[in-house]
Parts: sequence; structure tokens; C-alpha cells
Amino acid sequence: MEMDRFQKYRQSEKGQATRKAYYNTEKGKKIMKIGKWKSRGLIETYEGQYNIIYDRYINAENCELCHKKFKNSQNRHMDHNHTTGEFRHICCNMCNINMPDLKKSSANKTGYRHISQDKRDRGWAFQRNYMGKSYRRVFNSKIDCLCYKFYMILKINLMKKNM
Ligand SMILES: [Zn+2]
Repeated sequence: MEMDRFQKYRQSEKGQATRKAYYNTEKGKKIMKIGKWKSRGLIETYEGQYNIIYDRYINAENCELCHKKFKNSQNRHMDHNHTTGEFRHICCNMCNINMPDLKKSSANKTGYRHISQDKRDRGWAFQRNYMGKSYRRVFNSKIDCLCYKFYMILKINLMKKNM
């Protein structure tokens, strides 16, 4: 009963406005960001590390790998090991995409090429690089992901034909 009332409040205009206002404060932004990282599998290897990582993230002006200046906050990423959950570094979009997560690939037990169970996005991920472009999409179900894989095979074959 208590939960129902809370849910009602949460979904009400007032409740949503309160939440929105909170998540716009510095503290709210921090809590939301760390929560997002946790849901993607980031772990603390010592107490208080989440705070340290967040400060490092917020204050980072350059990519820790290629040292280029971040163009905007969307370009700044927290990178972690997808197998162990340990923090690695704060890097730019390009470095984040280009860095091969070898442990992640070898842990692919789906039995399908280009399909992995993605811890970060919590679902089934299709990923394939073709002609220098990266195609990636995450699905809730394995069937949908497989279906997308076959669609992409057709699409790639069509691109090959039209070359
Ligand atoms: Zn970089």
C-alpha cells in the first residue's frame, strides 16, 4: 500500500518536478551519474572510489589516452573493464570506441559471431564493422538481436552489390 502511494507521487506532476529539480543540482547530477555507471557494471575496488572517479571525470579537460581536449561533456567517457568492472580511465569518444575489450570478446559465449551479451547496456548487442563504419545496436531479446543480424547481412550484401 505504501509503495502504491509512493509510485503515485513519483508519477505525479509534482513528484516529477521534484525529481527533475533534484537531478539538476550538483549533488543530484553526481548521484545520477554514479548510479548510471553502477548499472553498467562499474565496481569500487576501494571504499570511496566512486567519488574519486567522479571528481576525475568532472575535472578532466583532456582525454587520458590521446590527450586531445574534450570538445564537450558528451565527448567525455568513463571507461571500465567490462569483465572485472574495474575503472580504467576517462577518455574521449574515439578512444572509447577504438579500444578493443579483448576480455569482453573472449567472454562471448552466445555462440554467434558479432553478437555478445552486453553487460553495459544490459541486453544482446550486435556489433559489426564494415567499410570503416561501425554498426551497433542493442536489443532486449536474443531473437530480436539475431533477426537484426540477418537484416544486416542482407543490407551489407546489398551494399557490396551496389559498389
Ligand atoms: Zn582520446
